[in-house]
This record gives sequence, structure tokens and C-alpha cells, in this order.
Amino acid sequence: MGHCAHARYVWNLAVEQRSWWQPGRPAPGFATQCRQLSGARAAFPWLAAGSVIVQQQALRDFHAAWASYFAALREWRRRYVRTAPDERPDPPGQPSWRKRGLDEGFRIVATGPQDVQRLNRRRAQVLVPKLGWVRFRWSRPVPEARSYRVTRDRAGRWHVAFCAVPPPIPGPGTGEVVGIDRGVTVTLMLSDGRRYQAPADCGVERLQGRLDRARRGSIRRAKLKARLARAHARNADARRDWVEQRSTQIARGYDLIRIEDLNVRNMTRSAKGTVERPGRNVRQKAGLNRAILASGWGMFAARLEHKAAGRLEKVDPAFTSWRCSECGTVDRKARESQAVFRCRSCGYSANADLNAARNIAAGHAARGGRGLPRPSNCEPQLPTFHVA
Ligand SMILES: [Zn+2]
Repeated sequence: MGHCAHARYVWNLAVEQRSWWQPGRPAPGFATQCRQLSGARAAFPWLAAGSVIVQQQALRDFHAAWASYFAALREWRRRYVRTAPDERPDPPGQPSWRKRGLDEGFRIVATGPQDVQRLNRRRAQVLVPKLGWVRFRWSRPVPEARSYRVTRDRAGRWHVAFCAVPPPIPGPGTGEVVGIDRGVTVTLMLSDGRRYQAPADCGVERLQGRLDRARRGSIRRAKLKARLARAHARNADARRDWVEQRSTQIARGYDLIRIEDLNVRNMTRSAKGTVERPGRNVRQKAGLNRAILASGWGMFAARLEHKAAGRLEKVDPAFTSWRCSECGTVDRKARESQAVFRCRSCGYSANADLNAARNIAAGHAARGGRGLPRPSNCEPQLPTFHVA
């Protein structure tokens, strides 16, 4: 199919262009490459005969592939920073050449409902630019999609996959406000006292231990390494599921959701006495847990941002754990231990994470600047929320 060849050609050109890249020079962006594509289409009639959508989307996919490669690499570094080099799984691979027969596919964007027609119970057809109507088997309901992708798998079967962005979830309309504190002990602590625990990694520790004992270079070791990689992947899936479920639940349950703004990239909050004076092993484990949780938290915030669009507020995380959510006094010593917060001014006492979550819900944890909060901010003032 010509579309596949064009998409592959454009992709491979982009790969080759990247391979000329030298440090210190910016790689060409999507817009630049689109301009270059126009030039190429003017020069090569066979390319111009193809669909410009297919070719531009190949470029867009190429950029998306690089972005996800960098994200995967960051995650990989964060997770295996403490692992010995020969114990690490292979780092994620860079986007590379697409081969004929293996990577066949293209993407069409800007489609509407008029581009898909149901023929009968089993069959339907989709309009492909420059190609006409293509029939496919109706295997599941087709959402109202903005784009779709046509691929051919190694077995030579063609697939068409519609991609729809799910609409944001409406809030309950009660004006309910919630603050969410993330932590190592309690993954998510809500200001109304609900707590949610992310699934624990299972199988990894035991396999890691067995891997450590296995002789280097042995077949057994290679097998264990593969099993460990699968366990990591399974755990990541479980975490993703958990994030999806919790973010939906919270987006549906509250009208205004406040979380800490982690673009203020200080990990001091998570580094604060999460584990009091840990032994070396404990600390290492806690470090790893934190890294995994941190990535889960980022995912959670991103999903929430989408699902509760316009109803999510980010709060400066400074002082949320030291400020009394009852009277507003900021006092380091009020945090008696990992679990207990006790205000020395008003006597308010609560679970420390709950106190932090209540501060986040109030949305003004850090307005005191560097010192103590100004008196006007000490009153716990619940924000007014207007229900449309
Ligand atoms: Zn107090």
C-alpha cells in the first residue's frame, strides 16, 4: 500500500536527519520538518501523489516517539539509579528505522463521523484519503474519533484502530473541595480522611534476591533477569490501572481538587522524615519506593488534570506539613513524628498526612512566604466555589 511506503519513507528520512544531529545544535522541530516535507513533495512527484496527512502524521509520530523515548529514559534512570550496571534491564531504545514488511502503518487525522459507515452487523467502511472507502470488520463499537491508525501486523493482517480522547468527567456539582496529600506511607491522603494505597510491587524483591545469588553469565541468571523484567512490567501495569481508577473516582467525587504543585521540583517533602533515621538498607528501599511513587504521582496528576479539566488546582507544597490546618500556625516541631501532627498553639492533633491534605484543600499552605503566615491567612478559610 502506497500510504505505508510514504509514511515509512518520511519516518526514515526523519531518522536519518536525526542521525546527523550533533550536540549543541537543535534537532529540527516538527514545524521545520513539515516545511521540508513541502519542499520534498514539490521535488518528488511520487511523494506528492500520496496523502499529505499521512506524511505529516508520520513526522508527528516521529516526534511523539522521541518524546516518549526521553520520558522512558528518565524513568529508567530514576528507577535503576542504584542498581549495579549489569543488573539493569536494557535502557529503552531510540526510535529507529522502519522496515518494509515489519512496520507497516499510517495515521489519518481530522476525521469525523461522516468518514465511518456501518454496512451491516459485521462490516463497516472507513474513508481513507486518496484511496477511497476501505472495508473493515466491525469488532467493537467505534467511538467518535478524531483520528485513526491503519496497521499491518507481522501475520499480514490489517487493523484499523480509532483513537478517541475521552471527554472529561463531570464533578458532582455539590461544590465539594478536596485536598490530596501524597506520601510514601499513605499514597494518597484526602482531606476528608479517605486514604488510598497504591498496589505494592510484588515479586520483584524475591526475584532480585535470587538474581543476586545466581552465577554471572549463567543461563539461570538470564532467565531470572527476563522474569524480573516481566515482573516490573506487570507492576507498572497494575500501577497504571490503579491510577486510572483512582483519578476517575476522585474526578467524579469532588468539584474542586487541589494537589501539590510538583513543578516546584523540590523533593524535600518526600525526603522529610518519611522513615525516621533509617538503616542503609531501609533507606535504599525507601529511595526506590519514592522514585516509583513519584512517577506514579506524576501520572496521577496528569490523568486528573485531564479528567477533572478546569477543576484541578495546584498548590505550592511548601509548609503543608508544618502548618496547622486548624489555626494556621507554622511550626516545625508540630510534626511530632512521621504519623502525628500536634499543634502547640491550639492543641489540634491529627494524622500528619491528613493535616497536610487539609492545608492543601485550603489552598493557601504557603502564602506566608519565607516566615510565618500573615495573620489574615491564619484563619482556615474554605474557598468559595461557584457551581455553574
Ligand atoms: Zn493550631
